[in-house]
Amino acid sequence: MALTLAIGDDDMLPKLWARVDAFHIDALSTNEAKPHAKTLARFAADDTTVTAPTSLEGALRASGFECHRMDDNTLTAQFAPRWRVRRHEPPRAADVATRGAIVIGAGLAGCAMTSRLASRGWRVTLIDRYAAPARDASGNPAGVFHPIVWPDDSVAARLTHAGFSHALNHWQTLEQADHDLFRSHAGLLQIADTEEDAVALADAITRFNYPREYVSSVSRDEASQIAGVEVARGGCFFPRGGAISPAAVCEAQLAQARESLIRLMNTEASRIEYCRDRWYVFDQEDKEIASAPVLVLANAQDAQRLLLPAVARTSSDETHRGRVAFRCVTSDRIPMIGQLADESLARRDASKLLGAWPLDLPRTPGLYGAFAFGSRGLVWATLAAELIAAQIEGEPWPIERELAEAIDPARFLLRALRHGEITAS
Ligand SMILES: Cc1cc2nc3c(=O)[nH]c(=O)nc-3n(C[C@H](O)[C@H](O)[C@H](O)COP(=O)(O)OP(=O)(O)OC[C@H]3O[C@@H](n4cnc5c(N)ncnc54)[C@H](O)[C@@H]3O)c2cc1C
Repeated sequence: MALTLAIGDDDMLPKLWARVDAFHIDALSTNEAKPHAKTLARFAADDTTVTAPTSLEGALRASGFECHRMDDNTLTAQFAPRWRVRRHEPPRAADVATRGAIVIGAGLAGCAMTSRLASRGWRVTLIDRYAAPARDASGNPAGVFHPIVWPDDSVAARLTHAGFSHALNHWQTLEQADHDLFRSHAGLLQIADTEEDAVALADAITRFNYPREYVSSVSRDEASQIAGVEVARGGCFFPRGGAISPAAVCEAQLAQARESLIRLMNTEASRIEYCRDRWYVFDQEDKEIASAPVLVLANAQDAQRLLLPAVARTSSDETHRGRVAFRCVTSDRIPMIGQLADESLARRDASKLLGAWPLDLPRTPGLYGAFAFGSRGLVWATLAAELIAAQIEGEPWPIERELAEAIDPARFLLRALRHGEITAS
């Protein structure tokens, strides 16, 4: 069970994305009534009920609600639109016969995904080509985690703020269950690259009014004191940042999921296929190794080969000596998190999708991606898994819709459609 607590000003509600069964509204000014009623209509499930002040009656009726006065001050309303009041249906749980999923890739992304689905009662088959989890990019003995301070409130910065909080909460739960994650608790000091950077960091911290327990700017002397050695210049200090063992994080999550988990290690997923509401995964001998209604690609750069085998080429084809791992990144350096688009359908309907929104795109049933985490796997993996699990379950999304759309794996396709670069085929 997840409680989504959204705290904010008037503009907070429209940023969410959720299907809601019941609303209770305490008080609203007349100015707020109309936009809020429209937002309620965007989120309402089929028989959603509302209790609200009677001052909202007109706005609610105009947005497709039938209203009944309980007394002079309060009304109840039911969503029963007689005309189309919204462009998109609010999120709905994936239509699956059984709550079974396959996750390909047992690194930070795949183990978090397994954990978040298992915690919701899903049975997960986790496939990896190595004998144990966290052997590829997630196989370093330690990784650092911290939020980022950026001069503007960029997608990467916002995602990192949200991901950082999710990761800390999740790791704390694992530690409370006696899993040692080898996490340092002394905070993390970031030394600015130049004096100008130090000033820019300090400015951004002041401008965004970050609390001290999140980040503070530090002078050269303060930084030297924290580090215990003389450092070249100041920078910023993240009291809750630090280092952690990615492999321990992966193992702890799998241990928690154990009763819902089938591990298929030493197993290469060579090909995937969708047939009659199920995803099938085949090995190198083209033997079926798993099937389920939901498939999550958490296999970093190899996700592209499974999706577009004809064009994919990664440098893992080459020969390297020693331990080698690659950071998987996209050209915009933003991760790919969410349900994958149905590219063939989108190409077929390209002319209709010229002005499309992410929610207009046709999606591939049951197929999700969590990859391209670059250098931020520790901070992004938990949130990514939480978002995908929420999408699969039809739960409120854990981040604003706009932010989720910025990391949508369909964003490149959408951009190409909008720019008319794809013509109907
Ligand atoms: C040297 C280095 C240092 C880093 N330092 C940090 C750091 O300090 N902090 C930080 O947050 N991040 C750091 N990163 C980045 C971080 O490690 C990655 O973002 C993260 O590990 C990505 O996790 P992942 O699960 O997406 O990928 P991976 O850990 O690569 O997991 C993908 C898994 O998929 C499996 N797989 C792929 N294809 C198939 C297939 N066809 N069949 C079966 N299995 C398959 C692979 O075996 C692998 O286990 C660093 C990365 C590197 C390389």
